[in-house]
Amino acid sequence: MVGILEDKDRIFTNLYGFHDWGLEGAKQRGCWNATRDILSYGAPWIIDNVKNSGLRGRGGAGFSTGLKWSFMPKEVKDRPHYLVVNADESEPGTCKDREIMRHDPHLLIEGCLIASFAMQAHACYIYLRGEYILERERLEAAVKQAYEAKLIGKNNVHGWDFDVYVHHGAGAYICGEETALLESLEGKKGQPRLKPPFPAGSGLYGCPTTVNNVESIAVVGTILRRGAAWFASFGAPNNTGTKLFCISGHVERPCNVEEAMSIPFRKLIEDHCGGIRGGWGNLKAVIPGGSSVPMIPAEQCENLAMDFDTLRNLKSGLGTAAVIVMDKSTDLIRAIARLSYFYKHESCGQCTPCREGTGWMWRVMERMVKGDAEPSEIDTLLEVTTQVEGHTICALGDAAAWPIQGLIRHFRPEIEARIAAYRSRRAIHTGHVIAAE
Ligand code: SF4
Repeated sequence: MVGILEDKDRIFTNLYGFHDWGLEGAKQRGCWNATRDILSYGAPWIIDNVKNSGLRGRGGAGFSTGLKWSFMPKEVKDRPHYLVVNADESEPGTCKDREIMRHDPHLLIEGCLIASFAMQAHACYIYLRGEYILERERLEAAVKQAYEAKLIGKNNVHGWDFDVYVHHGAGAYICGEETALLESLEGKKGQPRLKPPFPAGSGLYGCPTTVNNVESIAVVGTILRRGAAWFASFGAPNNTGTKLFCISGHVERPCNVEEAMSIPFRKLIEDHCGGIRGGWGNLKAVIPGGSSVPMIPAEQCENLAMDFDTLRNLKSGLGTAAVIVMDKSTDLIRAIARLSYFYKHESCGQCTPCREGTGWMWRVMERMVKGDAEPSEIDTLLEVTTQVEGHTICALGDAAAWPIQGLIRHFRPEIEARIAAYRSRRAIHTGHVIAAE
């Protein structure tokens, strides 16, 4: 590997599962080292250091992790506090938390203990995606090891009673939305809740709760061991740290890799993926952060820094850093239509703009794939995306709207050409029929 990040600075040193995933292997890699010392500095110290490290949530939204923790009540009153780990990784293109749970589960469990201590929680629930069978088995085995070694549980060596529960979802993408996840965890239908109240005020069973992504929690132990300044030394200001990137699509070697935040897109692809299939001239577009963020065209990828702020300025997003590369052989309209189908299928149906809008957008997209549409329908489609975006209970409405917006923003001529080609084919066909009659 070349890249920017040196091996000595990697947090996930068993990302590919070459070494022992169990407790002994994890300890040799530094996990569970000085955890008691970290707790001894107290909750405010932990939260301040996580804030100072600049860690932003790795589940997609990119909100400051330390700040989120600080929203929890400072003292436990009549209701217990909970940490919930969102391991319902289901966004198309995203497959990073999976690697943590099956190859380095102790980093996650240690992070759960530290984060829970910082927020005065004695229990943590890890909500796993329904399809992640091996990951659940590994995680459960690692939790058992941690209990047996008295690293967690009652009267553990760290002096903070702490239980971890691994909960298996049933395969609905919407349960990755934090409040739908809480509903599902409570045994109800996984439908997002209206906010406010936010989970820090009223979350799981109506108690103060923080929901964090797997990667956000798994990096915490190493950040506190090596120091906030060490983590903050990678990347650009406000976009710091190391990050797992999952690169798929038309590259020579799709892979998962931990890299420094803000790594240039070109370096990421050249050094870790062997370049674009067919060379750089063959690149057409990139979805840089999982299927819900708008695509960007090849021209914008030349000097692109892979971080939250740069991508937001391009009207896209880093999301989960699931980079989907598409070369010139890609039918972008069909690719986005397929994503529209995904979001239509996964809508929970609670709110009208999403329930009706996702189906409507998908049906129009299917016609656009063939070119069977009026040119004016492109603007109508764009208008409908803006009526869905921001008008729903949860972000699934935005996630359904943004890929279409990205397509129209950058590749409108391609849609127009598809419509024109269809119309000329139809005209020829109709002419033949008339001639034959
Ligand atoms: Fe359900 Fe869609 Fe509304 Fe979210 S936006 S609550 S998925 S209907």
